[in-house]
Formats: sequence, structure tokens, C-alpha cells
Amino acid sequence: MAVPRIIENSPWAKLARLKLKAGSVAMVLGRSIHLSGVTREQFLSDPHWVAHEMEHIRQFEEYGRFGFLWRYLVGWARHGYYHIPFEVAAREAGERDALLYAANGVLPPPELRHPTPKVKL
Ligand SMILES: [Zn+2]
Repeated sequence: MAVPRIIENSPWAKLARLKLKAGSVAMVLGRSIHLSGVTREQFLSDPHWVAHEMEHIRQFEEYGRFGFLWRYLVGWARHGYYHIPFEVAAREAGERDALLYAANGVLPPPELRHPTPKVKL
């Protein structure tokens, strides 16, 4: 898998951040990770979060741009954000794959992890 591009201060991620009422957001579009409210360094220092977004990149590659976005939006409408099947899978990947992205093989303590937005939308 190609190394993704990281875009800070993304207007797309800012829209998502406002919608989710979250302090910081990362969102995947194609092979790019768009950030708002978080720097590249802060994002990359959170291996659970990186693993979560890498799963979205894999989903994007599997389903294609329109297939991914369509399924994502339908899942949101049907289940609410937290239970979108792509989000459930990405949270599982975040737990499963975090060690792959951990510096020196050490996972940070839970209080340093980025919180998942829990809003019901
Ligand atoms: Zn996600």
C-alpha cells in the first residue's frame, strides 16, 4: 500500500469536525488523510488513530471512491455515525493494527489516545 499523503488544516476535515462537534478530526479521501484541529505530528504519534485511518484507506481502495462514499453515507443514514460498518471495521483495525504504527513498539497510554466521536447523528 502506498504511503498516504497527509494534509493539515483541510477544509474537508474542518467540515467533518463541525458536523461531528469534535475537537480534532482525520478523514480519508482517496489516498490522502485530511486533518483539522490536529497537526501531522500529533496525528502520527497516535498509532491507534493512524491504524484506524489506514483501514479507511484500505476500504477506499477496495470499494473505489464512489462505492466507498455511497456505502459510508448510506451506513450513516441507517445506523448513525458510530455504527457505520466502515467505522466499526476501522475501530477494530485501530485496536488490531496499532502496534504496526507504534514508535519503538510501545503503545501510548489510553488517556493520550484520540477519542472517537460518539455523537448520534
Ligand atoms: Zn473512521
